[in-house]
Amino acid sequence: VKSIAVLTSGGDSQGMNAAVRAVVRSALFHGLEVYAVQRGYSGLINDDIRQMDLRSVGDIIQRGGTILQTARCKEFTTEEGQRLGADNLRRRGIDGLVVIGGDGSYQGANKLSKLGIKTMGLPGTIDNDIPFTDYTIGFDTAVSIVVDAINKLRDTMSSHERSSVVEVMGRHCGDIALYSGLASGAETILVPEVNYDLDEIASRMKTNFALGKRHSIVLVAEGVGKGEDIAREITLRNGIEPRVTVLGHIQRGGTPTHNDRVLASRLGDFAVRKLIEGDSGKGCGVMENKLVTTDIDKVVNSKKEFNLDLYQLAMRLSQ
Ligand code: ATP
Repeated sequence: VKSIAVLTSGGDSQGMNAAVRAVVRSALFHGLEVYAVQRGYSGLINDDIRQMDLRSVGDIIQRGGTILQTARCKEFTTEEGQRLGADNLRRRGIDGLVVIGGDGSYQGANKLSKLGIKTMGLPGTIDNDIPFTDYTIGFDTAVSIVVDAINKLRDTMSSHERSSVVEVMGRHCGDIALYSGLASGAETILVPEVNYDLDEIASRMKTNFALGKRHSIVLVAEGVGKGEDIAREITLRNGIEPRVTVLGHIQRGGTPTHNDRVLASRLGDFAVRKLIEGDSGKGCGVMENKLVTTDIDKVVNSKKEFNLDLYQLAMRLSQ
């Protein structure tokens, strides 16, 4: 490839900017021309594309969100939309594309690859729900935000001897709840990957309070249901009225942690080097601290394995 482009698509996540910076600087370092597509696949269809230089990505490594903006674009799921996008790239002599996003964005990249554009996917989502990578870009920051919020909740909850139900993001994946629950010592972690028994949870809460526990945190992944509903079910069973906190979109904002910046930098550079080698239609990831590529077909047709060992550890330590 001689000329590549980069776009961010789907839900945004912290570290996307660090990934864009890595793609642009690595491409320039290797003597390629590099372009940015604004607003994901929507910008590709509308030809909202500009050339980047070293300075275009200055002062962004520490910023949340994405300077390229992101969009969900229905038109791109049609063959006509995809052809239009590929034609716009080709007209500018762009023969490679790095797509930073989630599952849906990967599928779009795969379609472009079949139309002759060399594409690479980078896992950009807070949910950590993409298989063949241990972590996605943004996950570490989202977990840090949840842990920080739980620290604050604990202060006030233990003063009042109250229990808390905290609802966190993650879509169908329980990783945000799992990692932040382990890191903050939550007594109960509800994730979609593991069955739970509300009768047992409610009675354990009651016993723990009787034994002198001053507070109790129940962490609920959004894939399980609403925190409000879980709290109501608990009250029905044990009479305790937990206060409910829904953390919502603050989990998607803020400055990325060093882990996310390092991951984004490594993956952005890796994707460019893979394109230069002629690779295409691959998702990039990090497994056991090694950079890996996997066919996008395989990535989008697989499910991320849940770390049951970590879940059981969290449960053992939260007695
Ligand atoms: P996240 O899950 O973090 O929100 P995502 O990338 O999965 O990110 P989606 O909204 O599912 O978010 O996908 C982003 C965009 O990718 C869609 O708006 C659409 O333009 C494109 N896309 C999704 N599915 C396909 C598909 N099957 N073929 C072509 N393009 C697709």
